Amino acid sequence: MRVLVLNSGSSSVKFAVIDTHSKEEIASGIIESIGSETSAVTTKLKNGEKQKSARAIKTIKDAFAVIQEFLRAQNLDASIEAIGHRVVHGGKYFKSQKITAEVKEYLTSIELFAPLHQPAHVAGFENAAVFFPKLTQVAVFDTAFHQTMPRKAFLYGIPYKYYEDLQIRRYGFHGTSHYYLTQEAAKRLKIPVEEINLVTAHLGNGSSASAIRNGKCADTTMGFTPLEGLVMGTRSGSLDPAILFFLHDKLGYDMKRLDKLLNKESGLFGLSGSASDMRAILEKRAAGDERAAIAFEVFCYRLAREIGGIVMALPRLDALVFSGGIGENSAEVRKQTLENLALLGFKTDEARNEIHGKNTNGVISAEGTPLAIVIPTNEELVIAFETEKVVAG
Ligand code: ADP
Repeated sequence: MRVLVLNSGSSSVKFAVIDTHSKEEIASGIIESIGSETSAVTTKLKNGEKQKSARAIKTIKDAFAVIQEFLRAQNLDASIEAIGHRVVHGGKYFKSQKITAEVKEYLTSIELFAPLHQPAHVAGFENAAVFFPKLTQVAVFDTAFHQTMPRKAFLYGIPYKYYEDLQIRRYGFHGTSHYYLTQEAAKRLKIPVEEINLVTAHLGNGSSASAIRNGKCADTTMGFTPLEGLVMGTRSGSLDPAILFFLHDKLGYDMKRLDKLLNKESGLFGLSGSASDMRAILEKRAAGDERAAIAFEVFCYRLAREIGGIVMALPRLDALVFSGGIGENSAEVRKQTLENLALLGFKTDEARNEIHGKNTNGVISAEGTPLAIVIPTNEELVIAFETEKVVAG
């Protein structure tokens, strides 16, 4: 089946046309900085041909018109059979859902669970219905793979009634990626999925690590929202909640200010004072920028510390998997993280790590030490498969 996979954000829309039969990406693209005079449109075809242009795309609706125009120009529109939307928060839904009025209403009702993402997703459903009215639409949730976490892992140490009345619990995110990495690691290591024990580290602008016990999620670093856990591009990750009370009392910060501080001004960006992007942090660090060095140190230390925490959910560790833009591309982050995890026996093989495990099926750890492997993630493929499954009923 050919599926149009959509990831609608507040100022960007990503799309990919995936063929579930051949597992190929036929075409893809991203429309960024929607609402500005210089929105960027990038498209890529299967043959590697890439095109970039800048023009004013005022609204999400205009972005969908651009996608439709591109698909028509490539003669792809008629072959697409369904749409799969990436949705960050599923709330009570732990399985992919066909988008009906009821599903849309529920996902709108939990907007407060993911205020940065959820309204944009709903706008994505609505625009997709306008531009591709004949196609069945499916929502695939980042939270779904984490449904298997036991209650000891998903409950917070606050009064139980907040879980019962308001569903305040840990949900976990990046589920499609952690799921893909689990399947792929099982294949590469030739271990049946039901028997594999892993820590999967998805490190991108947002980052999370999951403990996979016998192929299922046993714990993960993100929680009620994607703010918990690791230090990220602009997100703080976990911190002592009393800091919020202190900032309120001392500086008069209200909720809106605190939200912005922790979601947009913290993480690598807040620590370095200049960049949220790991590639830029590494360049600045190499050029002697002390604050970039601090951001790198904290990122890798927190990552190791959180891995050290969730690994306790496993009976044994078959491999530590690195993925996402940072995990797949930064030999320095991987090396420092493994060094921080020396207690678990990890040791980097420098030559393997430098080429991201290209000649060793992803393996970057030294011979005879616990396995660390690099696996490029493919969330779009998982969303396409899920969409096909729901459409087939
Ligand atoms: P998203 O979470 O938005 O999907 P990605 O998974 O694409 O993001 O990851 C983006 C991150 O990956 C950025 O911090 C970027 O700097 C980092 N990154 C990409 N390429 C490299 C590289 N060669 N070296 C280090 N970091 C990289």
